[in-house]
Formats: sequence, C-alpha cells, structure tokens
Amino acid sequence: MTAPGALDFRSDTRTSPDAEMRAAMAAAEVGDDAYGDDPSVLELEAAGARLLGTEAALFLPSSTMANLVAVLAAIEPEPPAERPPGDRPRLLTGADTHIARFETEAMRRFAGAEPVALPQRTDGSPAPAALVAALRGGARRNGTPTGARTVVSLENTCMLHNGNALDAATLHHLAATARRYAAHVHLDGARLANAAVALNLSVAELAAPADSVTFCLAKGLGAPVGSLLCGRSDYIGRARTQRLHLGGTMHQSGVLAAAALTALRRIPDLTHDHAVAAALATGLTSVPDADVPEPPHRTNIVTVRLPNLPAPDLAHRLSTHGVQVLPLDAGFVRFVTHRGHDLSAIPTVVQALERAARAPSPGD
Ligand SMILES: *Cc1c(COP(=O)(O)O)cnc(C)c1O
Repeated sequence: MTAPGALDFRSDTRTSPDAEMRAAMAAAEVGDDAYGDDPSVLELEAAGARLLGTEAALFLPSSTMANLVAVLAAIEPEPPAERPPGDRPRLLTGADTHIARFETEAMRRFAGAEPVALPQRTDGSPAPAALVAALRGGARRNGTPTGARTVVSLENTCMLHNGNALDAATLHHLAATARRYAAHVHLDGARLANAAVALNLSVAELAAPADSVTFCLAKGLGAPVGSLLCGRSDYIGRARTQRLHLGGTMHQSGVLAAAALTALRRIPDLTHDHAVAAALATGLTSVPDADVPEPPHRTNIVTVRLPNLPAPDLAHRLSTHGVQVLPLDAGFVRFVTHRGHDLSAIPTVVQALERAARAPSPGD
C-alpha cells in the first residue's frame, strides 16, 4: 500500500510535522516575541544567524513576507510615498523568479518598489548584460537620477529553472556587479539549503555574497510554518520594525520556532530528496518522447513534458493514476521531492507517465 502523500509531488511545502517535531513543539519554552523574551524564538534566530553566517536573523511567518520585509528594510529610510513609477525604488529580479511571478503586486503596493524583470540564463541567473543595463538605468525624474534605492534579488535554487543550484562564484560575480551601482543585494534562498547540499557547500558560503537572505523553514526542511530573514544587525533591526508594521510580529511563536529548530537539524536529510529527484529524472527520461530538462546542478525539482500535450492535461492524466504534479508553462509539469517520498514510488510514477503518453489526445 502506498503511504498517503507518497505520490503527491506538487511541492515540498506539502510535508507534515512528524512525531519528533510535534514533541518539540509541545515541549517548547515560550514567552512573548513582541516583548523579545520568547526563548525558543531567540534560540532559532541565533541558530539561523550562525547557519547563514550573518550577524542576525529574524523569524517571519512566510518567505513571501520575508522578501517584502527585506525590500522595505533595504529602501528605508526613503519613504515609499506616492511617487511616479520612474522615480520609485526598483527591485531587479529574474522574470521567472518567485518574486517576479507572485510578489510584484505586494512589492508595488506595500513597499512602493517598482519590479523590473530581467531575462535569465539557462542556469536561472539573471543575464549579466541585462542586469548592468537595468542598474545603469536607475530611477530618474525628468531624466535626472533621483538616487532612489535599487534592490537586486537573486534566487537560489532557481525555482522555474528546474531547481538549479547556483554556485558561489556566480552569486559573487552578480553581487559584485550590483554593488558597483550601490544596489542592495537580496538573496531569495527559500531553498538555499537544497543548493548547499547539492553543491556540497555550507549554507553560509552561498549566503555570503548577499546583504540579506530569505531562508524558508517550511519547504524541504519540513517545519509547518516560517522563514528566516538574515543580515547585519542594524539591517535586521529595521526589518523587525517592518515586520511589526505588516502584522508579522507573533507572540508565543516559540511553539513554531521549536518546530523550525528541529527542521534546521534536518538539512543533511535533503540528500535523500535529491537522490529521489535524480532517480525520478532518470526514470522519466526513459519514457519515449518525454522531455526532461537536465539543469547543471539538480536539487529536488524535476520537470517533464510530452509533445503537443498542454500541461493541465498532462497533470490531469497523471492524477488519474494517483500522481499529483503542478502544471507550469510551455507544457511542463513539476515534481518536487521531499522527505515524504522515497525511491519505491518511482516505478509507479514512470508507469503513470507511460500511460499518459499512450492515452489518445483530444485531437487524434
Ligand atoms: C516558496 C517560495 C517563496 C514563498 O514562500 P512562502 O513561505 O510560501 O511564502 C518565495 N520564494 C521562493 C523562491 C519560493 O520557492
């Protein structure tokens, strides 16, 4: 019998806290984080800062809020007031990043920042020439630079580039380019732990090029809730104020921090998720006509498409065999592996794709 969720590959957020994590939550010492005296939250923030190699860290309810707070704290003290679009702080990021796809409206509305989408190379990093051109553009009023702050956001792993892990040299190079134009360098590292494990580097080595880093606890690491924003102490102090403004300050959040502390100890387990993804990619490649792109450094994401079959139709066909995936663009569907999966599921998934490939298409 297949365990519940064993064939649900939609996201690595779809893990649920196991007995060990729930026991840690039940035993958590708590205070009130709004008063700064929740010992479990303080312990988590200290552990996060050590892991990322930064002076400080801040616990937030989600990575979406961490990214927004990251931008707010970077553009402070400039008031994100009513400015014409050309005279706002700008947020430069790859067109296929989570921020560009899902967070631009929040960045405009709540941070007053104007998102600028950059073309990405096949590894998922922004094209350097486009980055330089955008950095040179700058915010202007009547053709004169206004000095409004620019934030460059890099993403690692690269969600829509088959979960590719960007190496430290690539990140350092892009960050150095951004700094030549006095930009703040943010790293949306929702899956930075996956990148570190895949590249056999420490999380801190991959975080080092950035001024601020979002680190998700609720993806492959398996915490029920939460994300850390990491950076220098003064910057994290400003972020703490912005979190308050957004309603992200929590009270007995030590219960959640205890789960997150358990999650942080599970980084080495991501090797398992990556092994399952690698085997899944190999298995799917064996299906005739299946297109399974191979990123330079695969982590826990695999995408596949079949000729002339729209992604929602492929997702539907797989679901009739019990396999759940997320439809993306250009006919691709996404599998994300996590701790709830294992190698024994792969023959079932490969067979489901074979059947999906053989089923008659509506136009046939
Ligand atoms: C999942 C994800 C987010 C958002 O995380 P939430 O905690 O669901 O808000 C942001 N950026 C990237 C790259 C992600 O993968």
